[in-house]
Amino acid sequence: MNTKYRRAVAGFATVILLSMLAFATAFGKPQWQMIKLKNGLQVIVIENRSVPLVTVEIAVKNGAYTETPEYNGLSHLYEHMFFKSNERSRAEGYHDRPAELGMLQNATTREEVVNYYTTTVKTGTRDAMVLMRDAIRYPLFDQRELTQEIQVVLDELAQHRSNPFFYLINAMDQRLWYKYTSRKNPGGDPETVAKSTPEMMKTIQRKYYLPNNSSLVVAGDVNAQEIFKLAEELFSDWPRGKDPFVEDPVPKHPPLTKDEAVIVNQSVNAATIQFGYHGPSTDTDAPATYAADVFSFILRQPNSKFSRELIDTGLTTGTGLNYYTQLNVGPISLLAQTTPDKLKDALKAINAQIKQFDSPDYFTDEELESAKTLLDVNEIYGREKPSEYAHTVSFWWASSGLDYYAGYVENLRKVTRADIKRYVDKYIKDKPRVVGVLISEADQKRIGLTEKDLLVRETPGLEKREEKPTSSGTTNKPEQKAKTGSATTTGEVKRKSRP
Ligand SMILES: [Zn+2]
Repeated sequence: MNTKYRRAVAGFATVILLSMLAFATAFGKPQWQMIKLKNGLQVIVIENRSVPLVTVEIAVKNGAYTETPEYNGLSHLYEHMFFKSNERSRAEGYHDRPAELGMLQNATTREEVVNYYTTTVKTGTRDAMVLMRDAIRYPLFDQRELTQEIQVVLDELAQHRSNPFFYLINAMDQRLWYKYTSRKNPGGDPETVAKSTPEMMKTIQRKYYLPNNSSLVVAGDVNAQEIFKLAEELFSDWPRGKDPFVEDPVPKHPPLTKDEAVIVNQSVNAATIQFGYHGPSTDTDAPATYAADVFSFILRQPNSKFSRELIDTGLTTGTGLNYYTQLNVGPISLLAQTTPDKLKDALKAINAQIKQFDSPDYFTDEELESAKTLLDVNEIYGREKPSEYAHTVSFWWASSGLDYYAGYVENLRKVTRADIKRYVDKYIKDKPRVVGVLISEADQKRIGLTEKDLLVRETPGLEKREEKPTSSGTTNKPEQKAKTGSATTTGEVKRKSRP
């Protein structure tokens, strides 16, 4: 246990007795050290000696946002090829050492980052760094292995399509990101994946797999100075290349110009409602991203007006607002789970809530302060597992830059009621949106639901509607989170607001 960590733990015990606020402001600071090699590789070290394990991670700014339709899914396929054969790995005995060290490997493809990681025992740190270097620098894209992985990816994509929610998400994405849909679809297009070739993989490698477009994150039982030396030794001769985002800029998603509605029929018993908006981008409106996180968090609390009006009334079984932080237009989504019979009332009630989002009494000062504290505490809990923290740091490095993340908690703290009002007025209230409903065809007919119903914003006299009594004192509220559509080699689809 290093001193910083010990201090944090000791501090925790004392501070609980004082106030959560003091705890949060004292410890919400970033806990990494970093250097940049001459070739542009960002090296980030997170020392955490709580367990004798080390995670070595490489993140690359690649992913859906770099993909035209002709390349949609190829960042993901590349991810699957990363730990396959490379120029070094075919040497005899190459795989003995990782097996001996019990190295675990995995990777994730998101919209704005692809990250690869291996976790091993402390004594395997150097071996893990060598393994990662060989994988990133010397891939072979062997045709036989590629053919195999194409099939694995196609199976994964087919599996996604067996989930009814896929069709709602897809229909929403087609409308929200109408001009550049592929750039928000990390899983990829099966037809494109099926046709990909080793030459296409090499094109991605030459364009994006450059030290000046990557970061190396080492987290766990390590010494930062030693890792910096090792990184210099193993990675400094990796040649820098042209900045891919200067060579081939990512186009900004054009804003929605009007409301859109979509009803998706699948054989489901319940009904799901989703409202989608274009939220802020980290590069053009960072202050709104902080306000977004605080506001979403206030609404998610079981005692918020939002939860009371939508869940405690029995209109929905779960409702939540989420903002997903992104460089290139982060989506805001409001999700609600209900029954076909309550669907129309639920829609009206949600619209009525959105109308009040910017009213001064929509949440109390206490709710505002407690949301900030809880977010801060969540952020700190998220650092407990060094491997998870490495993924989080990679995510922010790509989507916002580390300066943003370093100041994250401090900036959340500064969010005022006026900031939230500005955010709501700029991105949600009276703004063009996409409203989607997932429902079975039979239920849609039975309740007489049309897309027109989803386009209605105003319901006169709704405020007079009598509140139905809550069925029981306890509300079972599953946390609703927006999709991020990331794909992992384990085939798991991650759904989280942030890593
Ligand atoms: Zn995959």
